[in-house]
Amino acid sequence: MTLAELQRRVRAGTLDTVLTGFPDPFGRLVGKRFRADFFLDHVARHGTHGCSYLLTVNLEMDPLDGFAVANWAAGFGDFALRPDLGTLRALPWQPGAALVLCDYVREDGTPVAEAPRTILRQQVERLRRRGLTCRCATELEFYLFNHPYPEAFARGYRDLQPSSDYRIDYHLMQPTRDEPLLRAIRNQMPAAGVPVESSKGEWSRGQHEVNFPHAAPLEMADRHTVFKQGVKELAQQHGRAISFMAKLAPEEAGNSCHLHLSLWRAGRPAFWDARRRTGTRLFRQFLGGLLKYAPELCLWSAPTVNSYKRYQPGSWAPTRMAWATDNRTTGFRIVGHGPSFRIENRMPGADANPYLALAAMLAAGRAGIEEDLDCGEEYRGNAYLDNSLPRLPATLRDAADLFEQSRLARAAFGDAVVDHSVRHARLEQQAFQDAVTDWEKRRYFEQI
Ligand code: GLU
Ligand code: MG
Repeated sequence: MTLAELQRRVRAGTLDTVLTGFPDPFGRLVGKRFRADFFLDHVARHGTHGCSYLLTVNLEMDPLDGFAVANWAAGFGDFALRPDLGTLRALPWQPGAALVLCDYVREDGTPVAEAPRTILRQQVERLRRRGLTCRCATELEFYLFNHPYPEAFARGYRDLQPSSDYRIDYHLMQPTRDEPLLRAIRNQMPAAGVPVESSKGEWSRGQHEVNFPHAAPLEMADRHTVFKQGVKELAQQHGRAISFMAKLAPEEAGNSCHLHLSLWRAGRPAFWDARRRTGTRLFRQFLGGLLKYAPELCLWSAPTVNSYKRYQPGSWAPTRMAWATDNRTTGFRIVGHGPSFRIENRMPGADANPYLALAAMLAAGRAGIEEDLDCGEEYRGNAYLDNSLPRLPATLRDAADLFEQSRLARAAFGDAVVDHSVRHARLEQQAFQDAVTDWEKRRYFEQI
């Protein structure tokens, strides 16, 4: 939606509210709701403000200590939220409302390095300097439950009824029960500037997947972020709850966020060698970089304590570093031909922050180009069973240690960004460590 269109709708009385949101370190949208006339008169040009602590809180909004970007000693002042007017869009499921995504900038106008949009922009810019652009698409899996969110909360998220009674991978019959919601998602998302290709039943009970057409990285991450918030709001309107947790139950499949990606030069596919009908040297270098660096950048594909529970053999989620053509046991699955030839990165969970997961993938691949790495022979067989292949980190703690020590992370993202992300991960790990879980009670309460 253009600013002129917004103006027209405000004058026509069909739009009265504009949300200004910025994606936080977890990929949530945080910000404010403005009267549309005030937005047009002031915020569109001059922006607004938000407390700097938004970069240093956990999901419960506890202000956390030990961050350089914002802290008690500096008084937790404001950063400016600068609307990126190209992202202005109507929100059909919130009648009368539009949303604009914002960049987090300092008073002097410099972008805040630790803000996820800044991080992804920087990786895209580094590719551009090499004459390359990127096309990518995220996929999202989620679980749908037959309860509204407040009820799920009141039940302590226990004994929730999934939207299907059996596994519904590619099924067309039982997912029809969910059509009032999924149809609303497929039809309302494009009107919110989030084109959707398809939805399908996924492997587990109540699990669904939605696929998007490809776009440039920042655009894709923006759409993904709007989608995640939007489908939760739509689910609530339908008396349902949707969860993007990476792993909801040990016996069920996790929720992935596969990333499909290819590089382009001067409008032509840079990964596809049309004469030899195979991947180019650049493709092999990029993939070599992913294989070498994906484990140490895993924190940005798997950002929670829960993320690591998804990496289980035989669960369709990867456990080891390998690549192959159309092989779902490897972390990197190669699919398509010609312009659609691309890498599917199967590591990220649906809980990943898309800006950071894409930034990590671009940084690892670019390092492969700069170091002239090669991806080697493609893997044949079941990679889950091959103990000789390098493993992904097993816990958030391991991933944070690897990320902290990663020379590539520090070179690609800068010390401030790395230290900020590691601090978040360590505090999250500590919060989990301090919790007494249901599992412990079931295990020890009587028997120990
Ligand atoms: N649900 C699986 C995961 O968590 C992915 C299933 C698929 O291949 O689409 O990775
Ligand atoms: Mg899937």
